[in-house]
Amino acid sequence: ISDSRVADTWTKTTCGYCSVGCGMLVGTRNGKPVAARGNPDHPVNRGKLCPKGLSEHHILNAPGRATTPMLRRGGRGTPLVPVSWDEALDVMLSRIGALQRENGNETLGVIGTGQLLTEEFYTLGKLVQLGFRTRNYDGNTTLCMASAVSGYKLSFGSDGPPGAYADMETADVVLLVGSNIADNHPILCNRLRKKPGQVLIVADPRVTKTAMMADIHLPLKPRSDIALLNGIAHILLRDGMVDRDYIATHTEAFDTFASFVQDFTPEHVSAVTGLPAETIERVAHLYGTAKAAFIGWTMGVNHSTQGAVTVAAINNLALITGNIGRSGASPFSITGQCNAMGTRESGFTSALPGYRKFDSVSDRDELAAIWGISADRLPTARGLAYPDIIEAAVAKRVKALWFIATNPVVSFPNYKLLEQALTTAEFVVVQDGFFLTPTSEFADLVLPAAIWGEKEGTYTNSERRISKVNAFSKPPGEARPDFDIFLALADRLGLREELYPGWHTTHDAWLEWQRVSAGRLCDYSPFTWQQIEDLGGMQWGGDRLYGDGSFPREGGRALLHCVPCLPFTEQPDAEYGFILNTGRTVEHWHTRTKTGAIPMLNGMVPNAWLEMNPLDASRLDLRQHDRVDIISRRSTVANVELRITGIIAPGQVFMPFHFAEQNSNLVTLGAFDPISREPNFKQCAVRVEHHRNR
Ligand code: SF4
Repeated sequence: ISDSRVADTWTKTTCGYCSVGCGMLVGTRNGKPVAARGNPDHPVNRGKLCPKGLSEHHILNAPGRATTPMLRRGGRGTPLVPVSWDEALDVMLSRIGALQRENGNETLGVIGTGQLLTEEFYTLGKLVQLGFRTRNYDGNTTLCMASAVSGYKLSFGSDGPPGAYADMETADVVLLVGSNIADNHPILCNRLRKKPGQVLIVADPRVTKTAMMADIHLPLKPRSDIALLNGIAHILLRDGMVDRDYIATHTEAFDTFASFVQDFTPEHVSAVTGLPAETIERVAHLYGTAKAAFIGWTMGVNHSTQGAVTVAAINNLALITGNIGRSGASPFSITGQCNAMGTRESGFTSALPGYRKFDSVSDRDELAAIWGISADRLPTARGLAYPDIIEAAVAKRVKALWFIATNPVVSFPNYKLLEQALTTAEFVVVQDGFFLTPTSEFADLVLPAAIWGEKEGTYTNSERRISKVNAFSKPPGEARPDFDIFLALADRLGLREELYPGWHTTHDAWLEWQRVSAGRLCDYSPFTWQQIEDLGGMQWGGDRLYGDGSFPREGGRALLHCVPCLPFTEQPDAEYGFILNTGRTVEHWHTRTKTGAIPMLNGMVPNAWLEMNPLDASRLDLRQHDRVDIISRRSTVANVELRITGIIAPGQVFMPFHFAEQNSNLVTLGAFDPISREPNFKQCAVRVEHHRNR
């Protein structure tokens, strides 16, 4: 190793990619990041990192960082030109202010992100709600975790994953539904198979890397997971493998539920899922006889028009067997982004800060009292969710859009509608650490933001563990931390002292957030930043929630739900014969604004591909590595490499979504879960043809 790569200082921090929340040590030499390694003392990853974490420090000096505010001074169709921060913030406030005076405050839609620190998201929520006075505010977490949030609320009365990663080690049975952790949460794979005799079952239509690790892979038909879950419940009840005491003491609506699942016989479920009835019986018996059983899920469940109720169907199994609140026993959503959890607890999106309910007078009064404001300044209902903000922009009900550290041009479904929203809106602000994102091409104003490694605060991971994030590098050029940008805007609105009294740093936001969360389910008040850093993170709520069987619903009982299986929105037909499934690969993160700029990651996977079963390829006379077009009713993704492989079933195709140049969201469907508003990214109907120059 050359001297130039030998660190003179090591800084503890937390990985800024996925929600596993690995602890890292980043080495700097003369103030420049030169190395990263896993923190051996961190309880999450115990010294290990995946390829993204190991190379994350390279992003800080990568080309393409936003270094100065940029304004399309001559209007749309003219280039973005560098301007001062003063001019940028003045223009932003005057354009938004003019649109709000003309059209009402809610003409502003704001999309935040699970990439922000909890302290920043908390600060932003106050600014949007009390400063800009719009409820049309959501996070990009609605594209990944909203169904888990809604499903937990349906069953337990509140969001909050009940378990911990340690449960994956102590469970007798681990059932993963629609969850490819080997690609998406790789460090969690180290938790599996620690216990002798543990059985790993993976339900996934595709033979993912995680499915390859399983003792039993259930290659069920797309979106038949509800039938499988109801079918397992049917067998558990039929064969007496339920916890009658737990059901009687801690649940509601059992009789209705028991009657509902009677129709889900193994034969019926076999017909719906395509799985052999005896396999369904075996899986139910393994789950039902386990002393401790764990069900984990991610996007295969959440990315569905039935995502929230599928989560409720998972929770049903845990509740009727008493597999909750004990070591190894949990229904557990594995979140997406590094701070998806922190943002859903501290913001104004699906709940008021501290999981307070919009429609609760006492919750609003309590929050208003802490802030020293009148409760009538707090909304009594949430505003528009992310997809509804986009639709409102198309309909000209939302005329100003502010995107913070998110890149919807690549990540939002049904690109054409999104494009229409971005071009119809009269003023679009993109605040990001990278200048050349596909979304900034639509921006009237770009605000350059600091990124991971350049700011200090906390993230909260999938197991509710709050971890410290530290700065070890300076933002490039004039880029500023998002926190500073929010305070500067409040300053210009004349509201800084009212919203952020005496605040200068994110630690000031942390101290207020502790007071706001104190006594709530997500209580951050017992911990100091120093303790969090020294101990490698602290879990709010302790190891597990609901250990006493008491749930935050009126009456304290969890609710069992009857969840029907509905057909998905767009069935394949003669013209569009394949079901397209979209997902991720281990080398890349979301829309590649970061990983695309890291040569060692991008070099491994520089382009998208389409997976197709050999039977289908033969029928269509396609050969390995042919270039193909993927065509839906909405648009075409052109010139994609074909990979012919048995890991995808006949009639289905798979494509990663990370790539702007071959954007899978050109063809995906604008269909959303009616409860969570999460998009149905996992199924749309397409046809595949030899690539033609269109
Ligand atoms: Fe980072 Fe997730 Fe990889 Fe851990 S598993 S190093 S948190 S990307």
